[in-house]
Amino acid sequence: AADAAADVDDSSAMTADGCRILLNANVGTPAEAEEAALAGVDGIGLLRSEFLFLNRSQAPTEAEQAEAYTRAVHAFDGRPVAVRTFDAGADKPLAFARSDGGEASAMSNPALGVRGIRLGMRREDLLDTQLAALADAYRASGNCLKVMAPMVATVQETQWFVDKAHAAGLPYAGIMIETPAAAVQSASLLAVADFASIGTNDLAQYTMAADRLDGSLSDLLDSWQPATLRMIRMTVEGGLVAGKPVGVCGEAAGDPLLALVFAGFGIRSLSMAWRKAAAVRSALRLHSLADCQRMAQAALNARSATEARQSALALADARL
Ligand code: PEP
Ligand code: MG
Repeated sequence: AADAAADVDDSSAMTADGCRILLNANVGTPAEAEEAALAGVDGIGLLRSEFLFLNRSQAPTEAEQAEAYTRAVHAFDGRPVAVRTFDAGADKPLAFARSDGGEASAMSNPALGVRGIRLGMRREDLLDTQLAALADAYRASGNCLKVMAPMVATVQETQWFVDKAHAAGLPYAGIMIETPAAAVQSASLLAVADFASIGTNDLAQYTMAADRLDGSLSDLLDSWQPATLRMIRMTVEGGLVAGKPVGVCGEAAGDPLLALVFAGFGIRSLSMAWRKAAAVRSALRLHSLADCQRMAQAALNARSATEARQSALALADARL
């Protein structure tokens, strides 16, 4: 195993038997991207673009956005950067991006309302400006920029977004898998999209019908819930059918034991807060892919989140 790891640089993560797993960073600003780049991760798996403009009342211009995206891409100097288009609404309100174009609309249930790509489809002006800015950054970057849409639920939304991104000059256009609708039909969505990235925070929220902002529901929101794990596994299977890559970019990817389970499902790219990458890298080095698959199977068969975690831990190396 040590030999398998010897011929690549220190930052690359792999299992004990030499299966390469990409470790990427989740970031919200160019400054954070610069920090993450120094930490030696493989790329940015999620740039939450709405974080750049949270406190703005006016929509940012194309030039302003292009500058921010180009800065993030340059920090990563040829390593891949996946930018998510504005995920406005619900837990991430953007003053300038409301579905009615003006006054606050009173949605009775914002998490189930016009958010993510649904907002992008109603405010095409905002999305067009953002895609143009991303295309500027793409041209400046030597082809390492990817774009993905949040909160997708249907093939039609996927097709609409992917066509639009390609037409704007962005050849790598993907989707986030954050709804059960997207998870259960990931093969159909990935027949259209170039890649997918699973957002476990929202996927847990919608699978368990539990508000992610409600701390009293944390047991239900636990990514170890067998139902949520099954959604993730189902998404990976769809990716295999379509022959397209599926990564994970929700917070769960930063849990070393869960990262092993994801590797066992067939995930080869994990994106997390960059400070968590070192612990995930160490965990991967201690386990073979077969170990990871055994843990994955045990977790899937568990009857509760606690049992899933314990059954995976029981199969893990004692040094974890
Ligand atoms: C997620 O939902 O898991 C995700 C990565 O996106 P966010 O947390 O920004 O909604
Ligand atoms: Mg999300």
